[in-house]
Amino acid sequence: MQECVPFVVIHVTMVAMDSRTSAPPPDESRYFLQCVQGQFERSARIVSLPDHIRTILSQPKNEIIVNFPVHMEDGSYKLFKGYRIQHNNILGPYKGGLRFHPDTRLDECKALATIMTYKCALMDIPFGGGKGGVRCDPRALTETELMRVTRRFTHALGNNIGPDYDIPAPDVGTNGKMMVWIMDTYMNTAGHAGRSSAQARVVTGKTLECGGSQGREKATAQGLVHCLTEWARDKGMSLEGKTALVQGYGNVGSHTAMILARLGVSIVGVADHTGHVLNPEGFNTHRLADHVKKHGSIEGYSKSQVVTRDEFFSYKADFFIPAALQNQIGAREAKLLQVKLVAEGANNPTMPDGEDELEARGIDILPDVLANAGGVTVSYYEWVQNGRHETWDLEEVETRLEKAMKRTYQRVVDFSRENKCRMRDAAHALALLRLKQVYDQRRIFP
Ligand code: NAD
Repeated sequence: MQECVPFVVIHVTMVAMDSRTSAPPPDESRYFLQCVQGQFERSARIVSLPDHIRTILSQPKNEIIVNFPVHMEDGSYKLFKGYRIQHNNILGPYKGGLRFHPDTRLDECKALATIMTYKCALMDIPFGGGKGGVRCDPRALTETELMRVTRRFTHALGNNIGPDYDIPAPDVGTNGKMMVWIMDTYMNTAGHAGRSSAQARVVTGKTLECGGSQGREKATAQGLVHCLTEWARDKGMSLEGKTALVQGYGNVGSHTAMILARLGVSIVGVADHTGHVLNPEGFNTHRLADHVKKHGSIEGYSKSQVVTRDEFFSYKADFFIPAALQNQIGAREAKLLQVKLVAEGANNPTMPDGEDELEARGIDILPDVLANAGGVTVSYYEWVQNGRHETWDLEEVETRLEKAMKRTYQRVVDFSRENKCRMRDAAHALALLRLKQVYDQRRIFP
């Protein structure tokens, strides 16, 4: 068996730090973590969470940092920094995505891992919360370099991940193909246990050919649309003829746009890391997705009007779907938005002052832990299928997902009405109550 590697720093003399990984303002990811901790405190008060559970959940169980060298195609060696944060595993193995982004930081991973603990608890999935990533710009790497970074990172994590211990998945900058590289690296290096094909469960979000689940790629978007559909039903609103703005046109954003378009919603504005575009007639969401696949961004897409960020946020529509990064909607953006609903595909896109402003203006929010939980839900289905050596058809996955999303949506709405609190507080409170049940019975070791 490979040794456990809780903290690895590899010193290599021939290392030039990657100039493409310039640092963001040092306090941005700290602020993100503070936002998540503030939300935790609010919901902990609502459910009168005992102090000892509050203390345990206030910090991750494990914080793993690895520095690893990669041989680049130009012959140089570069040192990359990777993280895996294991927030809590009282309900089951740590679970959460891997983010490959130039701004990936420890505090960002801590915040995202905490969110995963709540999400799994809220959905009543037997998983805990984890998150990780590598500080790199995947767009600036060749395919070979990306594979080397992914494999070397997996190797550096060693048996800190595992099919019954910690199970990564795709997030920003990662995809099914990279999950397969992780699976392959793990199975080739994890000792005798790696001989079992059930070890493919070490990672979810894999390609279909390599053990992925039907419906996983679009699962986060599909789950979000189930919540949005339920919200519209509650309001007595039909989706046909409505309009939406989508920020981020990667996995979550593009699939949400395509599913909504099928339901008659016109996608009138789209944004990504290269800019913001509008089309009052509504974008052809599939053609735009093909453009992004081919060119890496929405830039250069014909039939679109390039606008500023402020013009994008202030464009009148029914729904705003943030599906990019955290901390996108502050008070300023919330004042600009002319929508009825913000449905959070991204994790923590709304900052506390943004949430206050949206609430004051009567704009509803479907919070991330509920709205984007379809991804981890189908990841769980993938993990179950791999363990049982089964393949479920798309209909079975979709039926299960729809039931899970609608049931949880209703529980959150009911709690929020009964306790006169925000949907976000209700979702977090329900998650904390689930965790408390287990802590109350297991108590604290020894
Ligand atoms: P992705 O890498 O596929 O797409 C990210 C998108 O965001 C890209 O279109 C990118 O151009 C855009 N973007 C990046 N920086 C931006 C900026 N500053 N302004 C505007 N757009 C920007 O990632 P994804 O998997 O679609 O994840 C998007 C969000 O959804 C993240 O917050 C992620 O944590 C969350 N999420 C993803 C999943 C999943 O299953 N992939 C599940 C739950 C939550």
